[in-house]
Amino acid sequence: MSKIQMTTPLVEMDGDEMTRIIWQIIKDELINPYIDLKSEYYDLGLKYRDETDDQVTVDSANATKKYGVAVKCATITPNDARVKEYNLKKMYKSPNGTIRAMLDGTVFRAPIIVKGISPHVWNWKKPITLARHAYGDIYKNTEMKIPGKGKAELVFTGEDGKEIRKTIHEFTSPGIIQGVHNVDKSIESFARSCFGYALSKKEKLMFASKDTISKIYDGNFRDIFQRIFEEEYKAKFDEAGIEYFYTLIDDAVARIMRSEGGEIWACKNYDGDVMSDMVSSAYGSLAMMTSILVSPDGIYEYEAAHGTVQRHYYKHLNGEETSTNSVATIYAWTGALRKRGELDNIPELVEFADKLDKATIDTIESGYMTKDLALISTLKDVHPLNTEDFIKKIRSVMEAL
Ligand code: NAP
Ligand code: MG
Repeated sequence: MSKIQMTTPLVEMDGDEMTRIIWQIIKDELINPYIDLKSEYYDLGLKYRDETDDQVTVDSANATKKYGVAVKCATITPNDARVKEYNLKKMYKSPNGTIRAMLDGTVFRAPIIVKGISPHVWNWKKPITLARHAYGDIYKNTEMKIPGKGKAELVFTGEDGKEIRKTIHEFTSPGIIQGVHNVDKSIESFARSCFGYALSKKEKLMFASKDTISKIYDGNFRDIFQRIFEEEYKAKFDEAGIEYFYTLIDDAVARIMRSEGGEIWACKNYDGDVMSDMVSSAYGSLAMMTSILVSPDGIYEYEAAHGTVQRHYYKHLNGEETSTNSVATIYAWTGALRKRGELDNIPELVEFADKLDKATIDTIESGYMTKDLALISTLKDVHPLNTEDFIKKIRSVMEAL
């Protein structure tokens, strides 16, 4: 059988620890035997990031801008312990943060749903994808304690020296204040990433905030979304038969709990931080969550939402058997290959991605899965497999499709 040919390279970002081990097995068993893989390889493993003073991360993001599609393995974000463990020259920033900032992108988190692993919310039949704005608000705040009696004001000084002032509160006793900000440019990028992603998935999009209380601040988010929607996306949404609507955050939460899924929920920074943990834990497993970075101009980077699974890696190094779930990493590969196939008009590549997804789901639904899923599966006949055997089982299921 001849291998599927590609035309444009996929940007491949390798990573760390157990996910780096999985990465290689996936390529050996599920990708390379079937695809003449054209990839531009960047080693984002911590050792090589340190050797290159993190230049490799910047290079990989530039390559992603150039080619438009990347697949990324989980990577270590260094902390004090990692600086010692890897004898690092310095405490590098999170690669995801660097790449996200360079692409001006938004992260979309979506669960992978299989029979036997039921969401805690019984009516969630299809994935709910959560988009989180990743700039500003309380994450870039300035706050202070107010010691006692006095007036707190909000002051903006323009370049021309002119001031705009508003009273926050006339304090009669001690308290606290906080200043937060956002910038229109970042909100516009967020909106465009959300509209573009909804179109690519052909799913409806909801954005919510607290504009009844925060009339100017949250009202500005609402208005920017509405303006960009009407000016740039409304016709395309009509054509695709999907809708965009804005609602109050309270209403959004109530709707989500009653929803059957199959929609995208765009959240401000704090709402997204909190709600993404709620949505992902309600779906059952972090190992079944994908994460897609989308830039406003339609560049895509696919990865798993989980980390490098450090505990399993040390077991692996000790020669012990591991049972690490590779599903989200496989989906990162198929997501990227499918997108490359769509952009380059290679239907065989799209079909291959669909087939590998199906084989992965079929494998789990026929009872073969890693331990993390075996523990929560409601199937009667469950066979827990080790890391490598699970991937090999998927290969044999795919061969039989
Ligand atoms: P983690 O790698 O997500 O793993 C936390 C725990 O969740 C694991 O110990 C394991 O539980 C379970 N788990 C996660 N993924 C799993 C999988 N695929 N299969 C089976 N079980 C899985 O988080 P962490 O241990 O806190 O972080 C490790 C490193 O990952 C850190 O250095 C962090 O910086 C990095 N990280 C990277 C990314 C990224 O690149 N996107 C994201 C998050 C964290 P049990 O041990 O109970 O089996
Ligand atoms: Mg959080």
